[in-house]
Amino acid sequence: MALRDKFGRAITDLRVSITDRCNYRCVYCRTGSEGPQYADLKLDEYLRIVQVFVDLGIEKVRVTGGEPLLRKGVVEFVSELAQLRTKSAKPLDIAITTNGHLLADLAQPLKDAGLNRITVSMDAVDAEKFARITRVNNGFERVLAGIRAARRCGLDPVKVNCVLLRGFNDDQIVEFGKFARDEGVIVRFIEFMPLEEDRVWSPQVVVTLDEIVSALSAWKPVRQLPPNTASETARRYTFADGIGEIGIIAPVSHPFCGHCSRIRLTSDGKIRTCLFSLLDHDLYRVMQDGGDEGAMSAYIRAVVEQKEARHHIGESGFVPPSRSMVHIGG
Ligand code: SF4
Repeated sequence: MALRDKFGRAITDLRVSITDRCNYRCVYCRTGSEGPQYADLKLDEYLRIVQVFVDLGIEKVRVTGGEPLLRKGVVEFVSELAQLRTKSAKPLDIAITTNGHLLADLAQPLKDAGLNRITVSMDAVDAEKFARITRVNNGFERVLAGIRAARRCGLDPVKVNCVLLRGFNDDQIVEFGKFARDEGVIVRFIEFMPLEEDRVWSPQVVVTLDEIVSALSAWKPVRQLPPNTASETARRYTFADGIGEIGIIAPVSHPFCGHCSRIRLTSDGKIRTCLFSLLDHDLYRVMQDGGDEGAMSAYIRAVVEQKEARHHIGESGFVPPSRSMVHIGG
């Protein structure tokens, strides 16, 4: 029986954070003094947990963080994931979300280990602005080299995620349109979500899907593309000449919770049923207390039953999630 929540949504995508450490301090994420707080598990402990999820019906695993490429053994971890088979005996679909700073040297080894797809977080195609957002010097060139290495070694697709903040990098929309066409990557704009450390989010800072589409269209006409899957988070667009693909992930102005297929495992072994959940479910405790695969499986099913219907961003009474993004994993 597939893993389904009480709304009938099939849960097929697992996001596993393998560390909450990060070598960047992006202004919309690391806004406070909330440094690493949680102890990472051993990589083989994540593997054991992922196997239980896969036996329950998970088909896609995305490795996240903090910054997952900081974790020693990440290539071996991917190669172990690549040995796993889904309930229908197919290889897992394995992806990573990274800030790209360490990617230039790791792209080929990750590909050889069995990685299929990669998403690089990059919020400006201007080195000076990139440094202001990440608060890291010389990052831009390294990330660009990482993206090109990922393309060269055949990771496909290579997606580039850009979180837009009004008055900060919303002047980069057309530049990213050019970047998608020139570099052959899928650029995805993300509406800013209230997941930062010290709760500075406000709806005024959000650059909405409609604004992004009109900014792009003012430069070059765009047309919408059909979704790849029902649970895809991004709305897809291309330009009239068909060159370049743009995605827009609009959880604030166009929520997509109705088809949510995601569940998350934090770097310290807690299940989060939704990015905006107020609860952590301590699966690692079940394992530490001697729980076997059956016990963990039953625990996961019971937790999935509690998955929230949707987020309540921007609604009166909205309560920010109990963890910030760096401690959840994208
Ligand atoms: S906000 Fe929660 S329910 Fe909605 S798409 Fe994201 S994880 Fe799924």
